[in-house]
Amino acid sequence: MSDGELLPFARFDPIAFVRSGAVWEGNIPPTRLERLADRLAIGEGTLFCRLVPERDHAQRAVTHLFLSGSLPLICPRCLKRVTWSVALERRLVWFRSEKAIPPEELEEEGWDARLLEEDLTVAGLVEEEILLALPIGAVCASCTIPASPHAGKPISPFMDLTQVEFDDGCSTK
Ligand SMILES: [Zn+2]
Repeated sequence: MSDGELLPFARFDPIAFVRSGAVWEGNIPPTRLERLADRLAIGEGTLFCRLVPERDHAQRAVTHLFLSGSLPLICPRCLKRVTWSVALERRLVWFRSEKAIPPEELEEEGWDARLLEEDLTVAGLVEEEILLALPIGAVCASCTIPASPHAGKPISPFMDLTQVEFDDGCSTK
């Protein structure tokens, strides 16, 4: 970017970002996102963020956000660590006031209305999206009860951590 590097913890101006026209990519350490860190298990997690500046049909500033990575969570049933694979994509459309948001804008899938705020940061934005998407109450694969013909299947978005540890920690050579 011509006006200095975009830093995840510094002020983020979506309007200036669209004007710059430059894509931003970076890693954000999950442990530095305080509200999120409270919900995570102790351990390593990764978050990769890609921001693409766009405009919508009305020429409004849009931040096209892609998030990927893995976060350590705790299974609420067995209290074991499980890994949540993050894969999120959002188009954030920026508005100066609540009144400016057309009601139909909120209903389009994958498009989210956001208010421009002075203290906006990329990290804050990412944290909010992750908190909204966090699979609260979901159990790990080993706690998933086989579904009876009458019950819906329990949600299990997790990989079993034992599997992850095997993949990461053991040499198969
Ligand atoms: Zn479990």
